[in-house]
Amino acid sequence: MIVAAVLVAAGSGSRLAAGVPKAFVEVSERTLLEHAAERFLSSRALRDVVVVVPAEWTDRARELLGRAPSEPVPPPPVVAGGSTRQESVARGLAALAPDVDAVLVHDVARAFVPAALIGRVVEALQAGADAVVPTVAVADTLRSLRPDGLGPTVDRAGLVAVQTPQGFRRSVLEAAHAAAADGSATDDASLVEAAGVPVVAVPGAAEAFKVTVPLDLALAEVVANRV
Ligand code: C5P
Repeated sequence: MIVAAVLVAAGSGSRLAAGVPKAFVEVSERTLLEHAAERFLSSRALRDVVVVVPAEWTDRARELLGRAPSEPVPPPPVVAGGSTRQESVARGLAALAPDVDAVLVHDVARAFVPAALIGRVVEALQAGADAVVPTVAVADTLRSLRPDGLGPTVDRAGLVAVQTPQGFRRSVLEAAHAAAADGSATDDASLVEAAGVPVVAVPGAAEAFKVTVPLDLALAEVVANRV
């Protein structure tokens, strides 16, 4: 099974308010894009990697990924993203080599994803799953919201948080993207599930947290220097 990864990094990162798109924010002297790309480029479970960044940042991304690391692999192709995450993923899929069988879609904002998690997602695909998501337990007590205020507490034992990388048989993900019209999906598993495909869960990882708000950068510094 030939497996590729599409790394989406074309968001603006407005909640981070860093002045540059989130993927270009530096943590421990390297951008989130470089941290994430290194983890996928060095994974033996993958053959190819495609990176999706804002259209006006493609040159900078190529420069960063080209100067890169100790890995003896060529820098990944960089393509321009769209105005929604869904569109950015679709553009990454369009850039895959024809012989790729399965795809991992990953948010670069989860830059510190452990190699073991990438491995778990690929193993589940190799075992025959059409769609795979990593999940973690929810730490906070959760409540629903009503138009007039707080609703009841929701039993968190029955809930999980969903991370990336999410893995898919290529044909399944491409069909789900072709069928989905409005571009508003915040992850790919929900698109695939809407098309009637069962989604399998594997254990996620705390290190695969999503850098979203400024405080997350402090945690990112710690994790970057630990691994
Ligand atoms: O906004 P959010 O944090 O949910 O974005 C998740 C991921 O999707 C990020 O890595 C972001 O760069 C990416 N994204 C994208 N194109 C967009 C919007 C988000 O590649 N238009």
